[in-house]
Amino acid sequence: MKLNITPSAHPTDLKIRSERVADPGFGRYFTDHMVIAKWSAKDGWSDGELHAYGPLSLDPATLVFHYAQEIFEGMKAYRWSDSSVALFRPFENAKRFNRGALRMALPEIPEDFFVESVKQLVAIDKEWVPGKPGESLYIRPFMFASEVAIGVRPSNEAIYCLIATPVGAYFDPTKPVTVWISTDYIRAAPGGTGEVKCGGNYAASLMAQKAAAAQGCEQVVWLDAIEKKWVEEMGGMNLCFVKGKGDGATIFTPKLTGTLLPGITRDSLLTVARDLGYKVEEGMISVDEWRNGVASGEISEVFACGTAAVISIVGGAKSANGSWTHGDGKSAPIAMRLREHLLGIQHGTIEDKHGWVVKVG
Ligand SMILES: *Cc1c(COP(=O)(O)O)cnc(C)c1O
Repeated sequence: MKLNITPSAHPTDLKIRSERVADPGFGRYFTDHMVIAKWSAKDGWSDGELHAYGPLSLDPATLVFHYAQEIFEGMKAYRWSDSSVALFRPFENAKRFNRGALRMALPEIPEDFFVESVKQLVAIDKEWVPGKPGESLYIRPFMFASEVAIGVRPSNEAIYCLIATPVGAYFDPTKPVTVWISTDYIRAAPGGTGEVKCGGNYAASLMAQKAAAAQGCEQVVWLDAIEKKWVEEMGGMNLCFVKGKGDGATIFTPKLTGTLLPGITRDSLLTVARDLGYKVEEGMISVDEWRNGVASGEISEVFACGTAAVISIVGGAKSANGSWTHGDGKSAPIAMRLREHLLGIQHGTIEDKHGWVVKVG
């Protein structure tokens, strides 16, 4: 499976592009190119095509519209101070994409093709990668059931698609989030699709997101589906708890029980935390342990992590049984230190000891 490159006939006007890259927002503008590859049960994958960005034309009876057989990924390209561009652990995204494909009865795609398509798209749209601190090019690979049919069964056709959007500094350390601990809604149950990045998980989460907003909270915290007691994750990010303070602190995160999304940021931060000399622990934490740990001072910081925001400080939590604040609700020195370290690796200012960085050119 290879990638054929047909450059765009009409790249974005240079002035418009530079305005958009200077003030990108999040997911507002898309680069000049995209990648498409098609699969059928009969012929397998066709070669991929990299061509001008534009709409897809799909029959209304395309399976994905009816039965949501779909997966996606989220990753970033970072501009370094020498103006080169780097990806971060793209093979991890490729592996997770294929695990998701298996779970959703979609075809696996060769990992090398996945990473090559990302590299080529970023290379041709390199001028779209913003360069100010906290900015990056967000890359969205996705795959969906493209057979035209009504009837619930695995699709015999699929489309892989890749697009990219410049994103601004998502993170404002002076604005920690307050989270709503949801007991009315669940995100994922054992045997379900919680460990897969599929659109359906997000569709089912939107009502809970509205409920959180009605409580004055920015994000939802999901509990396990059975006992509604164990903390799983937050919105589209994993959660970490800092136990203790200073160099002897422990970074604790809920273990991957099959209902949590295995974040690449989560995994990277656990490694970075070990490198910096912190203890790291994966386990179970209940809402009561969270609240009591904050009250006793054992839990000194709480933060969420994911590709989009890297780290977000969780200033406090609200639930049907009360609310609490983490410390002064704003400062989280260990979270900030981990954040600076990971960003440093991604931007090439801190040594990449683990071979995570893949240069695009
Ligand atoms: C994508 C995602 C994450 C974070 O994963 P990263 O690989 O770190 O970006 C966490 N939770 C959910 C539900 C997600 O979809």
